[in-house]
Amino acid sequence: MTDNILEGVWGHVAPSLEEHFGSKAYGSWLKFLTYAEESGGRLCLSVPSRFLRDWISTKYGEQLLQLLQSAYPDVQSIDFVVIEQEASQPFVSAETASSDEINRSSPAHESEKPSGKARLVEGTDGLDPRYTFDTFVVGKPNELAYAAAQRVANATSVYFNPLFLYGGVGLGKTHLMHALAWELHKNHPTRKVIYMSAEQFMYRFVSALRHKDIMAFREQFRNVDVLMIDDVQFISGKDSTQEEFFHTFNALMDNKRQIILSADKSPSDLEGIQERVRSRLGWGLVADIHPTSYELRLGILESKVESMDVDVPDTVLEFLAHKITSNIRELEGALNRIVAHSTLVGKKITMETTQHVLQDLLRANTRLLTVDDIQKTVAEHYNVRVSDMHSNRRLRVVARPRQIAMYLSKRLTQKSLPEIGRKFGGRDHTTVMHAVKKVEALMKEDGVFHEDVLMLENILSK
Ligand code: ADP
Ligand code: MG
Repeated sequence: MTDNILEGVWGHVAPSLEEHFGSKAYGSWLKFLTYAEESGGRLCLSVPSRFLRDWISTKYGEQLLQLLQSAYPDVQSIDFVVIEQEASQPFVSAETASSDEINRSSPAHESEKPSGKARLVEGTDGLDPRYTFDTFVVGKPNELAYAAAQRVANATSVYFNPLFLYGGVGLGKTHLMHALAWELHKNHPTRKVIYMSAEQFMYRFVSALRHKDIMAFREQFRNVDVLMIDDVQFISGKDSTQEEFFHTFNALMDNKRQIILSADKSPSDLEGIQERVRSRLGWGLVADIHPTSYELRLGILESKVESMDVDVPDTVLEFLAHKITSNIRELEGALNRIVAHSTLVGKKITMETTQHVLQDLLRANTRLLTVDDIQKTVAEHYNVRVSDMHSNRRLRVVARPRQIAMYLSKRLTQKSLPEIGRKFGGRDHTTVMHAVKKVEALMKEDGVFHEDVLMLENILSK
């Protein structure tokens, strides 16, 4: 679960708004902002009217984001939601929601300002303009989920219901969901599409309970054509929210409306979900996003660099793609950091600055190096098969990488020459010795070769 970091950050920044923007802007507009919720690096603030939302987001959105980022650099974006306030809405405690749910979803200053009726996120509100199919790089690990999303976006009738996308954190689920929503909007502008996170669903449900307008809450979903809920694992263990979700889900399914869900696990692995809910989640098409591959990571970096219009050496991109394997969010974060650093200090990006700037990240991705790792990385880099590391093929294109792998095994592991020889298809220790000498000599003669081997060594070591 999230631990509401941004709520604290907002609490810290809010008192300085007047000083920052002047008392006029503050008194007329900014004082109406209230913390609503957060997810990942996104902060959601509520405002009491649509007009205020549009005004504040266009006039002050960018500056507000910068201000927050200067307090806490991990803030990625601010969303503004309209939560209309009713004149004198008394605070009504919900009877059916657990106190845990209420507490989790309470806006910061509940006792002073009861939040009113929640509006649903409709149309393209709240969709990230950067998250489209165009910017989504497709590779083996995500091709199924991508194809499924495309299919649903372009379908004229409801084939797969629900579409259930799942995968680990930072692998592109939200990106795909937004891309799908954008596409639906483009292809079928009259269809009513609602996208929200499961947290928002819960928040709105709980606040409807509080104001005793559950009927109105349900009504809002009645004539939805497509309902998209991101991160449904968040409703696990929350019985009344889950009950309500199931109710909505069933009503829409019965009316043949498209439902699209994402989660961090497959329906069968989701914990804290009632059995009947779980089984219905798996009725349609379930598509998973696998952990990234080297090729996908490199492809994503290349596409980001292109869109950022900065100069990052290929060796640095390859290095990052090799080293930051956890997820795409972290990979993007690493790239952003080196780009930001280079802009700030006005220096070109090199292997050296990269290693310096990313020290902490790189350390976290460390583990003990084996000859197998070296063979695999070198083979990948030169586009030869790992089996060629053990084979007798003497062709230069495979023999040279093999020699480099031997050289790196000598330098980067504790293995003796005979041990290394055995790992390379039972070669003699003199062969390994020869390879080491050969590579050293070539590194002296040939600058490009030298860079290449150094880069591999950097990728592999530390
Ligand atoms: P998740 O929702 O699965 O946790 P996100 O969709 O938020 O992950 O993705 C994390 C970041 O990685 C986002 O900035 C997203 O744009 C980027 N990303 C993920 N997958 C891809 C991809 N295939 N191509 C380009 N960017 C991607
Ligand atoms: Mg997500």
